[in-house]
Amino acid sequence: MIRTFVFCLTIFIILLSGCKKTTRSFPDDFGEKVYRHIVHLSAQIGERESGSDSEALAANYVRGQLIDIGIDTELEKFSFETFRLDSAILKIGDSKYEVKQIYFNPYDSIYSFQGNFITIDSIGRPDGQSITDRIVITHLENQYFFFAKENARLVLIVDPFNYKEIKRLENALCDVGIFGKMANYQSQNVAGHLIASVKTKKFIIIGAHHDTYPTSPGADDNASGVGALIELARYFKSMEDRLNTNIRFISFGSEEKGILGSRIYLNQHGPELEDCILMYNMDNIGGPSLMIEAKKGVNRNFHVIGGNEFPAITRNRPWEAIGSSWRILEPEIFEVFAITNKPEWIINVIDEVLQELEIEVRKTGNLGADQQTFTQAGIVATSIGTSGNVFHTPDDTHLQINKTSLQQVGQISTEIILKTMDQMKDRKMILQ
Ligand SMILES: [Zn+2]
Repeated sequence: MIRTFVFCLTIFIILLSGCKKTTRSFPDDFGEKVYRHIVHLSAQIGERESGSDSEALAANYVRGQLIDIGIDTELEKFSFETFRLDSAILKIGDSKYEVKQIYFNPYDSIYSFQGNFITIDSIGRPDGQSITDRIVITHLENQYFFFAKENARLVLIVDPFNYKEIKRLENALCDVGIFGKMANYQSQNVAGHLIASVKTKKFIIIGAHHDTYPTSPGADDNASGVGALIELARYFKSMEDRLNTNIRFISFGSEEKGILGSRIYLNQHGPELEDCILMYNMDNIGGPSLMIEAKKGVNRNFHVIGGNEFPAITRNRPWEAIGSSWRILEPEIFEVFAITNKPEWIINVIDEVLQELEIEVRKTGNLGADQQTFTQAGIVATSIGTSGNVFHTPDDTHLQINKTSLQQVGQISTEIILKTMDQMKDRKMILQ
């Protein structure tokens, strides 16, 4: 009996040792723990729009969690000014129409527009006409990126009923008045610092944003990323004596206002970022299909690390209203979003990890969240996320969260961070 047991045990050990090493004893309950943070942030705190008390509550929750884990953590409060829209009036002939949302640049001090307009009811250029520098009237909601990329001068979104009437008046002139004033708001980033066992200035940033889109409880976007940030902090803290690089865990505020929290962080910490070897972001990680920003290519010579290429007039200011009554039109922002900085070493790290873990992840180009702040500053940055869930709506609740994805993102992220640290042993590779 004993001999049979010993024999079986030996076979078991041989089988185990023959197994492919997939993780470094990664916790089985990682996804479950992330899920509990998601429930707290989305169901108990709920909507956490930039500048609100609930956003501050979420930030304090993250700070409290990191401190409980034993990580030195600071709340980095910041104030910002933005245009508060009170009303907008569209006049065509003798008729006045209500405007639901406006796309324009509120920071260039032009609040009245007159002239011809063009109506658009489907995405694409009407009859081949360009909408560049035109006043556009539409009933299409959620097509901001189309209008922004086409460089429209002003876009007015009206309800479909009014749109029908306006379309018949297309040859008339319009008169648009935008009323409001600049106002100040408070938001915050949370910064946890985990110090390596060897003395080094080098650090990796692991980031996620804790604010939400208005009216959304933001379970997937982005309580999921924040939950993973907290649990990765716990995991790396448990192996701190083996880390050769410091880690900063940054939970950004105001991401939904145009990556504002990360832009403020850049302005506050720019010179330190020269020692940042990787910025690793997590945003929307609770959907069914995984994706990661991993297209090789560097399309800039970064002479200064930690610089800010975003247009000065929009710097430290939101690109979307509190409440989302307006969104910004500023072509230069999109030029900065086209900057890439993915040298070969980070692509190799990501490829190796995905092969070892045998997890299917779609590789994408720039996804355009907080990581882009760092990419444009010459720092190697990437972001992991998922597709298949709804976001920016009241339906982004914990009910749609896929726990398997949370677990897999945890494993992938851990391995990418540790492999990046492994590379630090050979500085030359990092600096390539
Ligand atoms: Zn997000």
